Amino acid sequence: MHVHFWGTRGSLPKPGPETLRFGGNTSCVEVRTAAGTRIILDCGSGLHALGQVLMATEKLRRKGHILVSHTHWDHIQGIPFFTPFFVPDYEWDIYAPRGIGQSLQETLAGQMQYAYFPVRLDDMGAEIRYHELVEGEFQIDDVTVRTRYLNHTALTLGFRLEADGAALVYASDHEPFSRDLASGNGHIRGEDRQHCEFLAGADLVIHDAQFTLSEYASKIGWGHSTVEYAVAMCRAGGAARLALTHHDPLRTDNAVDQIVKEARDAQSGTEPPLDIFAAAEGLEIELKSSDRALPRRTIINADTSADSIALTNPLLLMAVEDPVAASTIREAARADDIAVVQAANVRQALATAQAVKPSLIILGCEKSDVGSRWLNEALREGDGTRAHDIPIIVVADDQDEVTRTALPVLEWLIKPFSPAYARTRIRAGLLRTACRWERALATQDEERRLAALNDLGILDTPAEERFDRITRLAASIFKVPMALVSLVDRERQWFKSARGLDLSETPRETSFCAHAINSREVLVIPDTFQDLRFADNPLVTHEPRIRFYAGCPIFVGAHCVGTLCVLDNRPRQIDAEAVSLLCDLAALAEFELAQPQPITN
Ligand SMILES: [Zn+2]
Ligand SMILES: [Zn+2]
Repeated sequence: MHVHFWGTRGSLPKPGPETLRFGGNTSCVEVRTAAGTRIILDCGSGLHALGQVLMATEKLRRKGHILVSHTHWDHIQGIPFFTPFFVPDYEWDIYAPRGIGQSLQETLAGQMQYAYFPVRLDDMGAEIRYHELVEGEFQIDDVTVRTRYLNHTALTLGFRLEADGAALVYASDHEPFSRDLASGNGHIRGEDRQHCEFLAGADLVIHDAQFTLSEYASKIGWGHSTVEYAVAMCRAGGAARLALTHHDPLRTDNAVDQIVKEARDAQSGTEPPLDIFAAAEGLEIELKSSDRALPRRTIINADTSADSIALTNPLLLMAVEDPVAASTIREAARADDIAVVQAANVRQALATAQAVKPSLIILGCEKSDVGSRWLNEALREGDGTRAHDIPIIVVADDQDEVTRTALPVLEWLIKPFSPAYARTRIRAGLLRTACRWERALATQDEERRLAALNDLGILDTPAEERFDRITRLAASIFKVPMALVSLVDRERQWFKSARGLDLSETPRETSFCAHAINSREVLVIPDTFQDLRFADNPLVTHEPRIRFYAGCPIFVGAHCVGTLCVLDNRPRQIDAEAVSLLCDLAALAEFELAQPQPITN
């Protein structure tokens, strides 16, 4: 991967004699892979110079991809001046975080309204496609892109790019979730731990480092990191190199030198070494394929299309006693047209959650309520609320409280916070859940069921004709490309027979069959796109792109161990007669499972 910095300044372009070496242009980084894929990270004023170079040098293959972290001005102000957007034979794909109200296109068009700029977004000559992103993973040609929400005053995504055997993380603009970590010291937990895992093992991390620790005290809540925090995250995540970026407009070249020197001095002698430097306009870096072990991926949840299930009528349930915090939250919700239901206290909020069906719950962790102790117990017992995956945000008085109670919640809002800040946390909370698929709960008889499954001695055995003939028949009768004999193990579903699918197992958390064995009845999903439980399931949004599913449970004694199921890449309907045929085939599979294992050598 070839990395080229075109803009490294934060907030405001700052050309002048004191910013010559590190540059005055705002955020823009170009990445090119060996196969020629071009990805541009952010469109600050640095984008202008990149556009000039592309126009002069690139005659063929006129296309590229642009990842926008968020639409604050310093990350998009280069767009109206990017000449390749005006050239008809160029093709661009622009990706940015999906908002709640305006579309990405509308937001970008905003800065090109007549009062500000003479050409409208729609009048630019190139073919431009817009994609809205949530947290997750997707593919751009040979590049695997992972996204993660950062902690900023606008909904902002960090990007992790993996290609050519190397990994690059771009994390601007971002503030420590725990303010205690601004010093670079302290235990890394919660959201900061996940941030750390996001950049784990990266060959290069380009990280917001707008402030130093001494400046940070007066900049809390501005949405930016300290140098110390960026270093601590890279160290804990085992990154190889750290490029400090989003330099404060007031930072002179000499001041940047001084910051780098101090950061290096503080790290000298520590193992493994971390190469720290300041991102500079014009700097180019070649990332070579490394032997570094990249972490196993755990999050697979990407939606790259704008036309997926909309966030319809979001509802916020809240019980926050502090009137200032409560009114700030209400103001934030109003700005995004989110309806708010108020409960008298935490106890009542959790008691009514099931009836109200909120998209998000915000609770105060206040002394005057029955207290954080009660909140603690209620959440840990998980009275059904957590089981139904309703995200909970807890408002805390201070950081100590967060550290002390360590509740199993989605996020913390630490007082005082601004409406803008509350708004981004609410948005992130809603989008995170709205775009998730529903994981099936464990069955009522889970342990005995698993024992019955294991007693069969069939898991991980080779394919057998006696099962393959059943899936072959099923695929043929239903005229579908895929049919499975699927057995649901503790963490996975394993396929004794898989017709038309090149996998032997998939995780249980994305399993359709796990839902079927839970209900112990035939499960038919005519169109996964229309079913909120499955619309964002990775098996729907990615290969094998399941649109239709019908599965009939297979029992061993009283326990449901799996299904015989048929799947298609297009939606379809099946009638009662077809369902009963499916059940006949499932009975055949059930019969075979009950037979003693053939003796093999
Ligand atoms: Zn910025
Ligand atoms: Zn910003």
